[in-house]
Amino acid sequence: MSLVLTAPLAGWASPIAETPDPVFAQKMLGDGLAIDPTVGELRAPCDGVVIGLHPCSHAVTLQAANGAEIMLHVGLETVRCGGEGFAPQVKIGDTVTAGALLSRFDLELLARRAASLVSPIVLINGERFVIDGLVTDREVGFGETVATIRALAAGVAEAAAAEGETLRRRVRVGLAHGLHARPAALVAHEAAKFAAEIGLEARGRRASARSPVSVMALAIASGEEIELTALGLDADAALEALTRLLAEVGHAPPAIAAAASDAAPSDGPHGALAGVPAAPGLAIGAAVRLVEAEVVIEPAGGAPEDERAALAEALALVRTALSARRAADAGQGGEIVEAHLAFLGDPELARAAEDAIRDGASAGAAWSHAIGGFVDQLRAAGDARMAERAGDLADLRRQVLLQLSGDAARPLALPDNAIVLADDLLPSQLMELDAARVAGLAIGRGGPTSHVAILAAAMNIPAVVAIGPRLLAIEDGALVILDGDAGRLQVAPGPTEIAAAQTQLAERRSRRARAQAAAHEPCRTADGVRIEVFANLGSLEDATAAVAAGAEGCGLLRTEFLFMERPDAPDEAEQLAAYQAIADALAGRPLIARTLDIGADKPVDYLPLPPQDNPALGVRGVRVGLAWPGLLRTQLRALLQVRPAPHIMLPMIASLGELTAVRQVLESLAADLGVPPPPLGVMVETPAAAITTDLLAAEADFISIGSNDLAQYALAMDRTSPELAAQVDALHPAVLRLIGEAARGAGGRLVAVCGSLASEPAAAPILIGLGVTELSAAPGAVPELKAAIRELTLAQCRDLAQRALRQTSAAEVRALKLAPATLEAMT
Ligand code: PEP
Ligand code: MG
Repeated sequence: MSLVLTAPLAGWASPIAETPDPVFAQKMLGDGLAIDPTVGELRAPCDGVVIGLHPCSHAVTLQAANGAEIMLHVGLETVRCGGEGFAPQVKIGDTVTAGALLSRFDLELLARRAASLVSPIVLINGERFVIDGLVTDREVGFGETVATIRALAAGVAEAAAAEGETLRRRVRVGLAHGLHARPAALVAHEAAKFAAEIGLEARGRRASARSPVSVMALAIASGEEIELTALGLDADAALEALTRLLAEVGHAPPAIAAAASDAAPSDGPHGALAGVPAAPGLAIGAAVRLVEAEVVIEPAGGAPEDERAALAEALALVRTALSARRAADAGQGGEIVEAHLAFLGDPELARAAEDAIRDGASAGAAWSHAIGGFVDQLRAAGDARMAERAGDLADLRRQVLLQLSGDAARPLALPDNAIVLADDLLPSQLMELDAARVAGLAIGRGGPTSHVAILAAAMNIPAVVAIGPRLLAIEDGALVILDGDAGRLQVAPGPTEIAAAQTQLAERRSRRARAQAAAHEPCRTADGVRIEVFANLGSLEDATAAVAAGAEGCGLLRTEFLFMERPDAPDEAEQLAAYQAIADALAGRPLIARTLDIGADKPVDYLPLPPQDNPALGVRGVRVGLAWPGLLRTQLRALLQVRPAPHIMLPMIASLGELTAVRQVLESLAADLGVPPPPLGVMVETPAAAITTDLLAAEADFISIGSNDLAQYALAMDRTSPELAAQVDALHPAVLRLIGEAARGAGGRLVAVCGSLASEPAAAPILIGLGVTELSAAPGAVPELKAAIRELTLAQCRDLAQRALRQTSAAEVRALKLAPATLEAMT
């Protein structure tokens, strides 16, 4: 009697040989078919007993009444989901009837995480049964017959008779995810080459090496030590071969293996821990864990004058060390040190510490108490950026306590190419490291906008943050690959992955060198379309760096930086001097100055902004200028006097009235000063502006898309939230559709992009394809951006843009490939 199998999944059925995975395609696990599911339900294909349910829930095995064992494997490489997205409805030992619901799964999540959704349905004890009548190459629904299973006649060859004694050998499993379906199949495949009866024993349970399911059911984790047994004539050779196979894969030492298998929510390939990209670049190196020594503080103090003196001395030592560091770093590192110096001199801190000393606290306890109060306040503010700044204060606490304990100078000895792993990393800890030896940073906590992230980018050190506590299970000295672009840490990579990363590194270096060599050439696509590559600036230093990097102008001067972290607003003369210095550094290149964009994540103390529950949706951008006309007028007067005259751009426009109001002021000030009014443009940062760009363009001289805010408002995701950092992606099709709509509505006006998206070479073809002709990027990104654009044709860009608009997620957009350039497009 044949056993009928009904479709356990609804979707497109295809031959198993076409499964995009050699283990299944080559039938190493057995014969069967595959279904690409369209519904997130797995149902029993026949009556049976559940004999296998993988701990990650992606594979269920049923044994039918006739003994046939059928494995239902949802998706490919779904083990990396670590069970996320699966809701099993049965457990091992349950009896089920055909059609019973075995599991629900989240199709959308698996589509993003798995190698493929194609799900093999495999007869795994093919030595006793045969599967035929396979239905393929068509859509199947639940309950439809898809195959039949027949028992083979008795007397099918059995393994050679066992003889002699059982040989045993202990082996540590090296595979990053342990023995899940595919490695279990490889074990069975290898075992089948020998006559000996081979077994695997773990935690008191045994499985035949020939049975991939029972091997899988042992749920052997990476790094676990198991016992191999073999009985038969070639037992010795069999043990040798299987030991090699099991120990070889991945070479992961136990702690790394545990970390990797914990990495269930990883988006990466096997053995990869996912985090949030914080500074770009790729690094291969040895893991070095930064374990922070606990500084012990005595709570009670001696005589207050002694404690006071001790604290003063420690503060002075920290100040001297910081000043030396500031002198050595003119860049962003120096600016951060500057901020620390300012905190150190804060009178509130001094007062709080003094009060504590007077109440009998030791110098350390007093300092700790004083800083702790501020740290708590910042963290309680519920603002991600404020919470990140709390890290700066915690850093100062540590530096002073180290001085008090006499432990200050203990630099960490680093090997070359060190990839530093830290639960959290403070700016001072990063600056204490020997930068020449640090190849990358992997941080358990933190956010992409923290000072450590900014510093790492400024120091050209690739960094990934928010990896989670799994990071700390990685052992010192383990080889890791850090990908600061993808936000991924590859643990214990195999030889192929190492070779691929080395090639990528070498290519990156030579690509960068080539790009820099051609950075000062004007930028045109391969078919001659002129694309202006400008830079975003916040200071005179940025302007100098931008010119050196080949920027053709400034597409966004963030003037608000001149207004921040000071007690009052700069007057007209100070502003004019600052803007003129930047215009001079640009040496005649175009300059687009944006009027003050304060409020929300860029607060200033001297503006009496009312407390706002939702500052990102409150009084910010042009709304501030309209609410404080004096501030706006002073800034416009200063800008009108700069030579050559900059273009002026307005932030956070939501409706035409805001533009016309500022234009009136600008025209009357220009008339007062006797100068022609300069071109006035708007930023498209709100969905409102994007879908009414046609109305704005009737009055605006140019359009510049702020993709950072546009993404935040279109996706309703706070751009400063570390938790959402990976998702606030301006390549989301919703954001791209808004950009396309804005470009269409611009009706011939220049359309630029000046958000971070403009710095991504991968985004350039899509933006150009949507009609953007100016990209204003971070200064450091300019050479490679220009190089990337020179490789493109307009036809390729348009094709890619159209496809991008039809995707359903940013991840899908990022996975798209450019079509090859056609000859017609080049001519
Ligand atoms: C933007 O929102 O994309 C933008 C360029 O402005 P900012 O990042 O300064 O808010
Ligand atoms: Mg903005």
